[in-house]
Amino acid sequence: MDIPQPPTIVVATGNPGKLIEMQVYLDALGWQLQLKPDHLEVEETGTTFLENARLKAATVAKALNQWAIADDSGLAVTALGGAPGIYSARYADSDAARIDRLLKELEGQSDRSAQFICALALANPAGEVVLETKGICHGEILLTPRGSGGFGYDPIFYLPSLGKSFAEMQPSQKEALSHRGIAFSQLMPHLKELSPG
Ligand code: IMP
Repeated sequence: MDIPQPPTIVVATGNPGKLIEMQVYLDALGWQLQLKPDHLEVEETGTTFLENARLKAATVAKALNQWAIADDSGLAVTALGGAPGIYSARYADSDAARIDRLLKELEGQSDRSAQFICALALANPAGEVVLETKGICHGEILLTPRGSGGFGYDPIFYLPSLGKSFAEMQPSQKEALSHRGIAFSQLMPHLKELSPG
């Protein structure tokens, strides 16, 4: 008897922090997850988060002839005119240096408001984007880092409603509230329709 195999989905990211979080949502779907091979680098030439997410998902899906999902995300700080935005990963060479630069750029600013943005795109094996969405989480940039959880800019992104930075939250709390959590909750019902069951 032929037992139907769940489809494989390639997670088009090389960022381990993102991967851990994406896995939590995707594991619930019953798909087999596969990592993007290291050699398959996609240049982020888009001018928006959604463009870059589409580009990454479509390129990886087509190159491997498999379903692929991509996340393009970053931090947009109001007093910096939305910077670092799509350049969040390229802002400096390490998480610590990125945080350091951001705090220096914000010195003396009274408006500390910021948004974390996450665009997700799903492409089929032909490289066509079939689903996409964007999640936004509003918060503030702290004066100094707090907490040791999460990754990236988490220690300086603060949610006043909880009195915690992302890095001070339990993973399940960040999952529920974050830009990525919001984007996945929008995508989930549609992903479920594509799932084997
Ligand atoms: P991308 O690979 O171009 O999407 O890079 C995203 C950048 O934003 C990286 O520097 C990440 O560390 C950062 N980033 C994205 N999502 C999060 C998050 O949930 N917490 C902290 N930093 C994040």
